[in-house]
Amino acid sequence: MSNWIERDQQAIMSTYGRLPIVIDRGEGNYLFDENGKKYLDLFTGLAVNILGHSHPAILEAMKQQAEKFLHISNYFYNKPAIVLAEKLVRNSVTGKVFFANSGAEATEAALKFVHKWSKEQSTERNGVVVFKRSFHGRTLGALKLTRQPGVYQDFPATDIPVFEVEPHNVEALEEVMVQHSPAALIVEPVLGSGGIVTLKEEYLREISNLCKKYGVLCCMDEIQTGVGRTGTFFAYQHAGIEPDVILFAKGIGGGLPLGGIIVAERYAHLFKPGDHGTTFGPSPLSAALGNAVIDELLVNGQLEKGNVVADFLHQQINNLKSKYPTQIVDVRGKGMMLGIVMNLDGSQVKEIQRQLLTDGLMVDVTQHTIIRLLPPLTLTNDEVQLFTEKLEEKIKAVVNANVSS
Ligand SMILES: *Cc1c(COP(=O)(O)O)cnc(C)c1O
Repeated sequence: MSNWIERDQQAIMSTYGRLPIVIDRGEGNYLFDENGKKYLDLFTGLAVNILGHSHPAILEAMKQQAEKFLHISNYFYNKPAIVLAEKLVRNSVTGKVFFANSGAEATEAALKFVHKWSKEQSTERNGVVVFKRSFHGRTLGALKLTRQPGVYQDFPATDIPVFEVEPHNVEALEEVMVQHSPAALIVEPVLGSGGIVTLKEEYLREISNLCKKYGVLCCMDEIQTGVGRTGTFFAYQHAGIEPDVILFAKGIGGGLPLGGIIVAERYAHLFKPGDHGTTFGPSPLSAALGNAVIDELLVNGQLEKGNVVADFLHQQINNLKSKYPTQIVDVRGKGMMLGIVMNLDGSQVKEIQRQLLTDGLMVDVTQHTIIRLLPPLTLTNDEVQLFTEKLEEKIKAVVNANVSS
């Protein structure tokens, strides 16, 4: 065992199940461990490194900003943040941005905003509609909205009421809105850690219509799905709707911590000086990287290039599903966000993940049996082919083992 692994176990609380690799450096779509072994990174630090590692545009933005200043506080105007807010709004809804540093903080900001908003309404609206198996973060406020029992069960959460509904059940959603008068609804357009559950575009439009009909604030958690991950800048844009609040984080900082919310113009005045704040949000450095990420995706065409490869990836994995319909029961997701639902034990899926890692391919496993891919938008067709071949090899091995036993 690497000396670093022992030192980690001695010095850091064990809140993560780590893979047994000590990373030394990254380059493009690859990570290298301390022994120089190379891995294709197919989950990009959990949907963060949307342009892979050490992208030249990111390094250049980093250098330029680092030479000016790293931090100035919110007492002063922060040029990279202003530019980034303009870009975010230009590529989503007409409105205004509040910056924080992470996904959970984006959710907390949204919760406080919902509270301000509902106080402004003449009706007594309270509480938030959430979806079963949703994930919105792990701080105590966000945790109340996160509907994964293993994540929230042992902790006290805020007393904000939540109303949990199953995705794709329009009647149940309408009933909750009629019966409970919630203030807001929060939804991931593709449920991420809940198992890559793609909400149908038609259903997202129903959600949006019901929110309008009953005066419920419509909040899109785009923390994982945003920044080009699913093929459009934000995933809700596939459905042609306009949410009231958009949460972003993960990919936006180009690898640095950055998150926040975009609020539609008609409500953006509700957050007033003193209502919310954070020392670091946004770091000028993170914001500078955010600008580089957006330019790379939307000006230099990386989003379109990524979409072509993402189509190929879906096609290849669907072919594999046709070949092994007993082992692969579903292929879900959109763009560079893909879930391969395996009809195997959790331990077999873990073993496949471990073997792929030995072969130099990093994938995530979520909900025990779903292989989750969150590749960079810089992925190539050759890398897709390599992954598909290796995955097929592992599935074949499982099939053969079953035949011989
Ligand atoms: C990761 C994630 C969060 C939480 O983000 P953190 O930066 O880990 O706090 C919230 N919502 C969704 C959809 C996520 O995927």
